[in-house]
Amino acid sequence: MGIADDIQATVSSLPPRDSVRTDAATGFLGRPAFIERLRDAVVSARRANDRLAVFVFGLDRFRLVNERWGHLAGDSVLREVALRLRRTLRGTDALTRLGGDQFAALTPGVPNAEGAESVARKVLDALREPFSVNGESFSTTASVGIALFPEHGMDEHRLIRAADWALNDAKRRGRDAVRIYSNALGDARDGAIDLEHDLRVGMNRSELELRYQPVHDLDSGRIDSVETLVRWRHPQLGLLPPDRFIPMAEETGLVRTLGERVLEGACAQLARWRRQGLDLAGVSVNLSARDFDRSDFVDFVTDTLARHALSPDSLEIEVTEHSFFDDPEAAARAAELRACGVRLSIDDFGTKYSSLSYLQRLPVNTIKVDRSFVRDVGYSTSSESIVAAVIALASGMGLRLIAEGVEEIDQVRCLRRLGCHMMQGFLFSRPLPADDAFRYLARAARA
Ligand code: C2E
Ligand code: MG
Ligand code: MG
Repeated sequence: MGIADDIQATVSSLPPRDSVRTDAATGFLGRPAFIERLRDAVVSARRANDRLAVFVFGLDRFRLVNERWGHLAGDSVLREVALRLRRTLRGTDALTRLGGDQFAALTPGVPNAEGAESVARKVLDALREPFSVNGESFSTTASVGIALFPEHGMDEHRLIRAADWALNDAKRRGRDAVRIYSNALGDARDGAIDLEHDLRVGMNRSELELRYQPVHDLDSGRIDSVETLVRWRHPQLGLLPPDRFIPMAEETGLVRTLGERVLEGACAQLARWRRQGLDLAGVSVNLSARDFDRSDFVDFVTDTLARHALSPDSLEIEVTEHSFFDDPEAAARAAELRACGVRLSIDDFGTKYSSLSYLQRLPVNTIKVDRSFVRDVGYSTSSESIVAAVIALASGMGLRLIAEGVEEIDQVRCLRRLGCHMMQGFLFSRPLPADDAFRYLARAARA
C-alpha cells in the first residue's frame, strides 16, 4: 500500500483529535494533523494565488540501522533526523513523520520549482552529516520527492501522492536525489522516458537553456565575469538541472555535443551583450574532461571565438580538478588552449584529489573554492583554514581565486578578512536567464 493510500485510510478512520496531534517519536505533527494543515494551506494558497511545496523525504539506508543496532537505535536516528529537519526548515513549515523513515514537510510561499529544490538540497546536506549510533558513526544519504501546488495537485491528497511518487522515482534513479513530480512521472516509472534518447533529440530542438551567474569583484566593485550554467527543458520532466543529465551525457559521450552547444551559446551571448553596450570582461563555461577528447578541440574553441570576434582571453574554461589526471592528451590540449590565450580555471577546488603538482603542470588562471568550504567559513575553523590555505596558494602562484556558493553576508566578511575578494553565489544573484542577466549587469555597471 502506498503512503497516499495509507494516509487516506488513516484520515477516514481518524481517532479523537488530540491523540493524533503529535508523533511520539519526533514531536512532529501527527499525520492526520499534518493533512489538516495541508488542507488549510491549500485553501489559503488558492485564495491568495500563492504556491506551496510538499516534500516527502526518505533516508536511503535506514533499514541498516535497525538491522545492525536494533530499533531503539533506529528511533534515536529518527529523532536526530527530526531535529535536523526542524533546524533546516523554517519555524512556520509543518513537518510530520509519514511512517518508517519517511517524513513530509509543507512549505508555503516557495516561489518556484528551483526554490523548492534548493530547500530540498539544504535538507539533504543536513542529513548527510554522520549520525552517532551507539557510539559508532553512521552515514547515509536521503532522497526527496517534491510536489507543488497548484501544478501537481489541487488538493492535499493529490499533493502528497505526487510527492511520494517523485520520491520513489528519486530512489529508483540511484538515491541521494531530488525529484520534482511531473505529470509524466507515471510514464517515467514504466521506463517510457529514455533520457539519453531525449537528450540526443532535445539538443537539436533547442531544449538546452543557458543561465548566467555573475562573479563579483568586491575590490573594484565591478562584475568580473559571468559563469554559464546549462539547464535542459525536458518536454515532460520540465527544467532539469545539470546533475540530472550531465553524468548520463558523460557516460554516453553526448556531453561533447552538449559542450559545443554551451560554448557556442556563451560566446554568442557575450558578443551580443557587448554589442548592446555592456563592458563585460568575459564568460566562463564548464566543460567535462571528455570534451577535450576530440583531436580538433583546440581548433573548435578558437574557431568559435573567432566567429564571434572575441579575443581568446574573453573565455575561461572551467574543469574540475580530477578531470585531467588520467589523460595526458587532454592535459596537453588544455595547455595548448592556454598558449592560445584561452583562460583555464579549476572548479570545485579541494573536493577531490587536489594534487598540487597538477597546478604546476597545468597553466591555470583561476581557482574556484568549492561551496562546501565556503558554506562553513565563520562556523568551522577547519573550513576556514582550508580556505585560508587555498588563498595563500593562489596568491603565491599569482592565480585568481573565486569563492563559489556565497549565500550569507557573514561569509562575505569572513572571506574578505581572509583575503578573497572575488565571489559568486545566491547572495548576489542566482544563475539568471540571459535577459535578466543583462539587466543585472547593466544595473551593476551604472552603480
Ligand atoms: P559548478 O560549476 O561548481 O557550478 C556552481 C553550481 O552551484 C551551480 O549549480 C550553481 O547554480 C550553484 N550555486 C551557485 N551559487 C550558489 C549558492 O550560493 N548556493 C548554492 N547552494 N548553490 C549555488 P548548477 O547550475 O546546478 O550546476 C551544477 C554543476 O553542473 C556545475 O557546478 C558544473 O560542474 C556542472 N555544469 C553546469 N553547466 C555545465 C555545462 O554546460 N557542462 C558541463 N559539463 N557541466 C556543467
Ligand atoms: Mg563551474
Ligand atoms: Mg564549482
